[in-house]
Amino acid sequence: MLVTFWGVRGSYPIARPDNVRYGGNSTCIEIQSPGEEPLIMDGGSGIRVLGANLLGSAFGTGSGRANILIGHTHWDHILGYPFFGPLYQKGNRFTFYSAGQSEADLPLILAGQHQELHFPVPFTELRAEMVFERISPGESFSVGSYRIRSVQLNHPGITLGYRIEHEGATLVIFTDTARIMAVQQGAGMAEAVAREGLEAFQQRFRESIVGAVTGADLLVHDSHFLEDEIAGKEHWGHSTPLDALALARDGGVRRLMLFHHAPEHSDEVVDRKLAYTREAAQGSGVQVSAAREGMAVEISGRTSC
Ligand SMILES: [Zn+2]
Ligand SMILES: [Zn+2]
Repeated sequence: MLVTFWGVRGSYPIARPDNVRYGGNSTCIEIQSPGEEPLIMDGGSGIRVLGANLLGSAFGTGSGRANILIGHTHWDHILGYPFFGPLYQKGNRFTFYSAGQSEADLPLILAGQHQELHFPVPFTELRAEMVFERISPGESFSVGSYRIRSVQLNHPGITLGYRIEHEGATLVIFTDTARIMAVQQGAGMAEAVAREGLEAFQQRFRESIVGAVTGADLLVHDSHFLEDEIAGKEHWGHSTPLDALALARDGGVRRLMLFHHAPEHSDEVVDRKLAYTREAAQGSGVQVSAAREGMAVEISGRTSC
């Protein structure tokens, strides 16, 4: 699997001289394997650049096929779709996998971005065929030869992480998730806490996410806040690099990719979070990197870059 990062920033896109090295586009990851249709996670502003790239292939002539995994529909993860060129090309086909949200299905959410008060091009102008597959948290399904399992994360609404397996390589992507010991903010979590008790629920949640990352060759994980920034903001729905490392370590993950960098963080700050996380990872067997726009990582049973 070749994993390419087209957008690595959380919350909103940015462009400042002090963050060009890691990049300012919001989340978008492309997964490629020989003989497989492209698999895309998230449509933040990074998907615009991916789209321009895809238009140079079958997507430019209307015979492209790709599959899109929706983690959740907060703006930083979907704002790029109206600017994703291949969606405007008749003949292309995109299959979206999403749990939707309890109050709205995915097509309604995507179409909402095209309301004329927000955007001049109506949703009906997207000429590509769009297929919407509804999946549930915890569901396993296949996309081509990829075996995929979703897991609910601790973030407002229904937010899914994905475990993606292909030919012995395993990639896990958790874009946005908060500390379960501090808050329980996913859809249905308050009810589960009331039913099971707080401690039992926290333990079950922890087991489910450790299970989802176990043995992964690469874990791409929310690392929005530095350790000294998260106090008082645990309910914002995010993790720190050391939270990500603790999960990677518990799951025996080979490589951790820090992701969803805060828009306020300069390249120098991301360098710093990478350095302290690497130091903390010494002896754990977890190799740590920080996602950078344009970076491509090849994973097989043995991780290499
Ligand atoms: Zn986000
Ligand atoms: Zn979010």
